[in-house]
Amino acid sequence: MANVSVCPGCGATLPATGWTMDRALNASPECRQRYGEVVGFELGNPSLVGRFHQLARGLRSPAHRTPG
Ligand SMILES: [Zn+2]
Repeated sequence: MANVSVCPGCGATLPATGWTMDRALNASPECRQRYGEVVGFELGNPSLVGRFHQLARGLRSPAHRTPG
């Protein structure tokens, strides 16, 4: 596959943006972008997200940082 990015933290394959990855985050910039979109949607639409807020919180793992 050409022009794709594979996230080292979760394995998500997403269209590559060409952005530089910060290896300390253990997540591709594309994966972090998706995470930001989900969080932004959640913050902008609390009445739609409602009780599913916990699902969005579960996506915080895209930070993919390892403890320590
Ligand atoms: Zn990821």
